Amino acid sequence: MSTLQHRYQAIRHRIRQACEQANRNEDEVRLLAVSKTKPADMVQTCYAQGQRSFGENYLQDGIEKVESLQNLQGIEWHFIGPLQSNKTRAVATHFHWLETLDRIKIARRLDEQRPPELPPLNVLIQVNISGEEQKAGVALDQVSDFADEIQRLERLNLRGLMCIPEAVDLQSPAGVTTLKQQFDQMKQLFDQLRLTCPQVDTLSMGMSADLELAIAAGSTEVRIGTDIFGARSPRQEQRDTS
Ligand SMILES: *Cc1c(COP(=O)(O)O)cnc(C)c1O
Repeated sequence: MSTLQHRYQAIRHRIRQACEQANRNEDEVRLLAVSKTKPADMVQTCYAQGQRSFGENYLQDGIEKVESLQNLQGIEWHFIGPLQSNKTRAVATHFHWLETLDRIKIARRLDEQRPPELPPLNVLIQVNISGEEQKAGVALDQVSDFADEIQRLERLNLRGLMCIPEAVDLQSPAGVTTLKQQFDQMKQLFDQLRLTCPQVDTLSMGMSADLELAIAAGSTEVRIGTDIFGARSPRQEQRDTS
């Protein structure tokens, strides 16, 4: 097995163990393999191991992979990066999911631009769970109103919530406590939303360092990049200019 195959199997193993620890069924938690900046052949290797859901942050880089891997049956692409309103069409036409929806203007544009031959675009509301000012995402107390607005858009299918919590030091008990509180708040919000939106089934939280905590708190999707595909170089991380 290659390094990539080993890493992929190691993450699957961690998810399985985290589910066992939390008394949850492994198939309740989707692994989103975050392939941003990585070449299409690495996506293909993961696909051959059974992986189907892939996450991309940068539009041009993502679209090239979506197009070159069109022949892979059942592959599912999630856009998880910041989205400017003049770039919505590319997401509406190429992706199955958008996980970072936080503005009604973007939602309306996606609704208009989603091609009629495709099923509605699955969307997650990004929640600014840490309340940090510079952070993307809808404030906690705005989520319910925003969800109501999205539900009126026929070409969008509201599937749930996503968050990127505060960067804490997981070596310190205080850091762990902060993170757990934020995950628990997300789970509460998710449960509330499900009362009024029965199609909601996805809570996207947890990354490489904290997937166990996220799964214990009720996450249904963890987003893992580096621990599967290896580190990204700073140059690769530079933002799209297209
Ligand atoms: C890059 C990214 C990830 C994966 O991060 P890694 O540290 O590479 O595992 C998860 N979620 C989002 C929103 C990201 O941008």
